[in-house]
Formats: sequence, C-alpha cells, structure tokens
Amino acid sequence: MKIAILPGDGIGPEIVAQAVKVLNVLGEPFEMETAPVGGAGYEASGHPLPDATLKLAQDADAVLFGAVGDWKYDTLDRPLRPEQAILGLRKNLGLFGNLRPAILYPELANASTLKPEIVSGLDILIVRELTGDIYFGQPRGVRECPDGPFKGQREGFDTMRYAEGEIRRIAHVAFQAAQKRDKRLTSVDKANVLETFQFWKDIVTDVHKEYPDVALDHMYVDNAAMQLVRAPKKFDVIVTGNMFGDILSDAAAMLTGSIGMLPSASLDANNKGLYEPSHGSAPDIAGKGIANPLATILSAAMMLRYSLNRQEQANRIEDAVKKVLAQGLRTADIYEEGTTKVGTEEMGNAVVKAL
Ligand code: ATP
Ligand code: MG
Repeated sequence: MKIAILPGDGIGPEIVAQAVKVLNVLGEPFEMETAPVGGAGYEASGHPLPDATLKLAQDADAVLFGAVGDWKYDTLDRPLRPEQAILGLRKNLGLFGNLRPAILYPELANASTLKPEIVSGLDILIVRELTGDIYFGQPRGVRECPDGPFKGQREGFDTMRYAEGEIRRIAHVAFQAAQKRDKRLTSVDKANVLETFQFWKDIVTDVHKEYPDVALDHMYVDNAAMQLVRAPKKFDVIVTGNMFGDILSDAAAMLTGSIGMLPSASLDANNKGLYEPSHGSAPDIAGKGIANPLATILSAAMMLRYSLNRQEQANRIEDAVKKVLAQGLRTADIYEEGTTKVGTEEMGNAVVKAL
C-alpha cells in the first residue's frame, strides 16, 4: 500500500511528521513517499501543485495532507495561490465526498462554548457532497433582471443543481459510513422550498433500499442547524449537499471548540481518499513546536478506516489518542489548569508510546 505524504506549509510539516511516526509503529507494510505542495510546491517548482506531486497522489492508495498557505503568499503578487493545490487535488483525484467528524472527548468538554452536558462525548459525522450544488451550477453571473419589481436592474444569479448519479454516490458513502458507526443517517435538505433538494430526498430514499440496516430520517436544514446547537448528540451521521454541508460542518466543528483535534477525509468513488486536519496551516504558530498534531494523527486513523481497510489499526490509534488525553497531556490549544502542557513532538511521542 502506498501513501503519498504532502506536508505543505506552516505547521503542516511538524504535525504530519507526528502522524508519520504513528503510522510507522503500526507494523504495516506501508510505503510512504513525501512531496511538496502549496507554498512549498511553489518554492520547489513554481506551482502549488507540482506535476510530480500530483502524479504521486494519483498513484498512491491514499494521501495524507498537512495544510497549505502562508502569510507571505497573501501579500506577494503570486499568480498561483497555495490554496489552489487542494482544489487541484480534489478535482484531479475525483474527490466528491467530504467526511468531517465532530468529536468532543469528555476530557475536553470545557473547550466548547456549550454546556458540557450538551456536548460532552459528542461523536457525529458530517458527510458533505463536494462537486455539485449551487457552487458549480451553470448558468451563473450578473445579468439584467428579466422581470418583477426590479426588472431592468442588474441581478446576481446562480444555478442549484444535482445530477442523480451525484446524489447516489454521496448517499452510498454516507450509508456505508453509517454502517461503520451507529447505523443512523440524517439526510439534510430543503425539500419544502427547493426542487433540487426534493429530488435529493427522493434519491436518498431510493438508495436507502440497499441499506435496510441503517435508519434514515430527513430533516430540513434550518431545523438541522437548530438541532445541532440544541441537542447535537442525537445525530450519528448527517449527509447533505455542498452548501448546507459547508455551513453545518463548520458549525459542528465549533461545537467541539478544539480545532486542533478534528480530522477530515475527502473520498473518491473507490474509497481512495485525501486525509487532512480540519484546521489550516496556522502560520501564527508555525515553527514553534507547539501545534496540536492530534487532528492529523486522527486523519491518519480515518485513512486506515476508509481507504486502507485497516479498521483495527484505526481503532488502535483512536484509543491511543484517548489514552494520552486521559493521561492529562495537552498541547497549548487545549491546555487547562491541572493538565500537563506538551509540545508537538512530545504529543506525537506520547501517542506512539500509547500504541
Ligand atoms: P485556513 O483558511 O487554512 O482554514 P484559517 O485562517 O481558518 O486557515 P487556521 O490555520 O486553521 O485558520 O488557524 C486558526 C487558529 O487556530 C490560529 O490561531 C491557529 O494558530 C489555531 N490552530 C489551528 N490549527 C491548530 C493546531 N493544530 N494546533 C494549535 N492551534 C491551531
Ligand atoms: Mg479556515
């Protein structure tokens, strides 16, 4: 099995190094190869996604990605921004399913802005479709308003659309993810107002016939937003379109209050995937040795679960993370009084030791 390791910029290299250490002690015959991406790709060969890096990612069974972006690319007039690397990878690898767990370990319940009893032990998974919806539908643009009270003025417009196959494939990803968890799936739509999402609801209902072991329910997105904040633990897996997923997954992430703890996956049709922490390159703390590597280590666990078919090893890593938290070890971002503050490397080493 081949894993492409793309550390990227900012804290990327520091945190990915910890995840690689963890993968190395599993005793699996993984072949890992590293390549530059983002600003590092730009420095190495003039493009945020160098051809050799893309080829490595295409040839691999899975990609472990750190983060891209740095302040220096915000100020310099660069023709290609580091962030284009991730969009290029998604497109070229055909990644359409974004899996974002929101987990709040009981030890970190105080990190949330919500009351501990509402969020402690939270463990939900949001499955967001990445290729369709109002983000990419044509036509779009600014035109002359054709009718109504604003006729003749300029108007901005977009097209919301989902192809049947596009809904089917994300529904399969979601049902299969639910099968690996608590076997409950909530499909979030706006079927009462939008044709696209009435269609979405019909197709998801049809795909459900292939997964009789999973309980399916449907919820309007406004209600889902409310329930996420009111009683988030009632959800197991949520599947939704690109825009609703964008918004709900960020909201769910913030329920945990620990951005340094959250992994994510982007999958193609054959369960090949790209795995990365939900957070960014954090240039403000890069090179200081204080970044939390657990989101990246947990991303490696997701990689084992969803792309490399190593459920046991994935569980082992997740248990090791729970163990170091129980031991009281904390990086600065999750530190509170009475716990032990550790740096990036120490945290990585502690997970290795727990394994
Ligand atoms: P992006 O646009 O790439 O998502 P962003 O501007 O949203 O980036 P992040 O890079 O995720 O932001 O950082 C947001 C804040 O969280 C920063 O203050 C950063 O230091 C902190 N942060 C992010 N990741 C970690 C981490 N792994 N450990 C500790 N702090 C982190
Ligand atoms: Mg961000």
